[in-house]
Amino acid sequence: MEIFREVNKVQKKSLEEKCKGNVIGFVPTMGYLHEGHLSLVRKCRENTDFCVVSIFVNPTQFVAGEDYSVYPRDEERDKAILERERVDLLFMPEVKEMYKEGYQTNVEVLKFTKPLCGKFRPGHFKGVTTVVSKLFNAVLPNIAYFGQKDYQQYIVIKRMARDLNFPVKIQMMPIVREKDGLAMSSRNSYLNEAEREQAVALYSSLKRGEELYNSGERNSSKIKKEMGKVFSQFPLVKPQYIEVVGAEELDSIEKIQGKVLIAVAAFVGKVRLIDNMLLGG
Ligand code: AMP
Repeated sequence: MEIFREVNKVQKKSLEEKCKGNVIGFVPTMGYLHEGHLSLVRKCRENTDFCVVSIFVNPTQFVAGEDYSVYPRDEERDKAILERERVDLLFMPEVKEMYKEGYQTNVEVLKFTKPLCGKFRPGHFKGVTTVVSKLFNAVLPNIAYFGQKDYQQYIVIKRMARDLNFPVKIQMMPIVREKDGLAMSSRNSYLNEAEREQAVALYSSLKRGEELYNSGERNSSKIKKEMGKVFSQFPLVKPQYIEVVGAEELDSIEKIQGKVLIAVAAFVGKVRLIDNMLLGG
C-alpha cells in the first residue's frame, strides 16, 4: 500500500491508473477504522481495480463546540488494517495541505442540508461537501463508497456530484451494527460502560418505528411519538430529533407513502450519535 500526503501525488497516481484502463474506487473516512468502514473498503476492493482510502479529520465539518480536537485518531492502527485489507493507496493529507493559507472557496448543497442533522449542526454539510469535492478532485474516483449510517450525507453528496458534474458514481452501503444493534461509529469509543449499554436506545426506537410501519401504521406523528417513548426507558439517552422524511427529498411527511427514512439523533451522555432505517418503497 502506498501512502501519500500530497494532493498532486495522488492526482498523478490516479491519472496513471486511469491511463492503464483501471477503474478507481474511493472510500473517504475520518479514520479510527471499524467494521463499518471496512465493509465499504471490501466492496471497493471487490468492484474496482484500484482502491483508494482517505483518512482526514476535516476541521471544517465540525461545528463550534464539537469534538474536533478530541476526535479519536490512531494512524498506525489504521495503516495496519488497510494494509491487511490490501488497499492500493492511502491518502492522509495534513490540514494545511487540504486548506492552503488563504483558502476561501466552499461547496454548498442548498436544500437537502436543511432538515435532520442540518438543523442542529449549521455549516456541517458545507464542510462535508467542500472536503469531499476536494478529495474527489485529488483522487479522481470512478466510484465512491458512502455508508447509509450517514444517509443525509449520502443524499447531499449524490446531489453535489450530479449538480457539479463530478464523473463519479456514488454508491451507498448498508449500516454495519454491533451485536445489540448499535450502529458502529468511531464516536462509540467515547462511551463509558453504562452509556454503551443504553446506546442501543437509538436502534430500539428505530425497530419500534419499523414494527409500527409493518403493522400498517402510516401516520408519521404516531410513529414518532411511539419511538419517543422508547427513549424514555433509557435515562442516559436524550433524543435530539426523531424524524420521518421522504427517502429522496428528505422532506417532512405526515402520511407515509412510498420509500421513507426514519432517522434519529440522540445524546448518550455527552456523545451525539445518529442512526436511521429505510422503510417501504
Ligand atoms: P467517518 O469516518 O465516520 O466519516 O465515516 C466514513 C464512511 O464510513 C462514511 O461514508 C460513513 O457513512 C461510513 N460508515 C461509518 N459507520 C458506518 C457503519 N456503521 N456502517 C456502514 N458505513 C459506515
